Amino acid sequence: MSLTHTTSQELFKRAQQTIPGGVNSPVRAFRAVGGQPLFMKAAKGAYLYDEDGNQYLDLINSWGPMILGHAHEVVEKAVRDALPGSLSFGAPTRREVEMAELIVSMIPSVEKVRMVNSGTEATMSAIRVARGYTGRDKIIKFEGCYHGHGDSFLIAAGSGAITLGVPDSPGVTKGVANDTLTAPYNDLAAVQTLIDANPSQVAAIILEPVVGNMGLVPPAQGFLQGLRDLCTKEGIVLIFDEVMTGFRLAKGGAQELFGVMPDMTTLGKIIGGGMPVGAYGGKKDIMNAVAPAGPVYQAGTLSGNPIAMAAGMAALTYLNEHPEVYTNLQRISDKLVNGTKENMRQLGLNFTVNQVGSMYSLFFTEQPVTDFDSAKTSDLQMFGRYFHEMLQRGIYLAPSQFETLFVSAAITEDLADTYLAANLEALKALQ
Ligand code: PLP
Repeated sequence: MSLTHTTSQELFKRAQQTIPGGVNSPVRAFRAVGGQPLFMKAAKGAYLYDEDGNQYLDLINSWGPMILGHAHEVVEKAVRDALPGSLSFGAPTRREVEMAELIVSMIPSVEKVRMVNSGTEATMSAIRVARGYTGRDKIIKFEGCYHGHGDSFLIAAGSGAITLGVPDSPGVTKGVANDTLTAPYNDLAAVQTLIDANPSQVAAIILEPVVGNMGLVPPAQGFLQGLRDLCTKEGIVLIFDEVMTGFRLAKGGAQELFGVMPDMTTLGKIIGGGMPVGAYGGKKDIMNAVAPAGPVYQAGTLSGNPIAMAAGMAALTYLNEHPEVYTNLQRISDKLVNGTKENMRQLGLNFTVNQVGSMYSLFFTEQPVTDFDSAKTSDLQMFGRYFHEMLQRGIYLAPSQFETLFVSAAITEDLADTYLAANLEALKALQ
């Protein structure tokens, strides 16, 4: 069986004339796996459809946002209903108030929240607020975590940055880089050492409470609580970047799942229901530092956009009112993960699979993957071959080993069986 991609290939050729690398976000270019990206035309439920009319079972779901599946009727209706006369006002709206109230009711540690337009804006703003609030300059981030493309975060960054081999991006000044300290994920002692070496200088520790951006890496037992205790003791603002995990691992995100409360939270992806939305929030006394309540400046022409708010509100309200979505996601994700392990057992393979809820990764290494160094022991060539074997079988995976998969509520038991049959054949083809 061989799918044809002629139209995608033509579009990619054209795209490269006018768009850097032919794509508007690097990881879409398939650089890590070879071959050419597919240009998508439509999506419905569990499926994506490309310009050549091929259908793919989607395990990326727009890198997380489409938790309910593509073109969910509740979200699409909300957008249609909101549209007439509401593209943008640049003035406050009722929906922004309702959105803020909903977020505060869903995310346990968030008392006040500011809407922005992307996860990157959320994290950039959050560290500025933490710096303004504490009067300190430095931040600690973890190797392999990705927090968007803000300068301060492109130091030992995961996701597309590591995929392209630029975890420390050119263009970030030494001054900015010097203010970002890095530690291995899951290494509390290393964090303590950094704090000791920079007394009263660390404004914030930012992390993905479950990492999706070096492939899926869970926090070790006690790691999140250990950071919480350290931050409380040292007067450091603890920021959970829940752009991926928020509204996904539980309706209240990883903080609800693990019962550890950060001081600030950054949100994105699911919060917009597929539209460009991000948010940052936290304790009242910290968020009251944000202009115009306080002196830390942050603004946005399109922030709180009425149509984006309508889509996001519809998605969040649905999740809030349908807790069974999370139990179903867990059941289907367990089936995908356990089935993958069973397929490997049949073939005598022993690769590592990490999973938390509806996020998981198959790493082509036999080592446990607990941090960036262990993630990098994966056989990237083998991953690339596996990716293309799955693609040819109509399964659309993240085109990099250093990304998590996202399961959507549109994946049924039958579709999980289809996936597992393809997975078995793809793994066989590698041998
Ligand atoms: N934070 C995390 C954990 C992410 O995974 C991402 C994007 O993947 C971001 C921040 C940046 O979000 P955006 O791409 O919307 O700017």
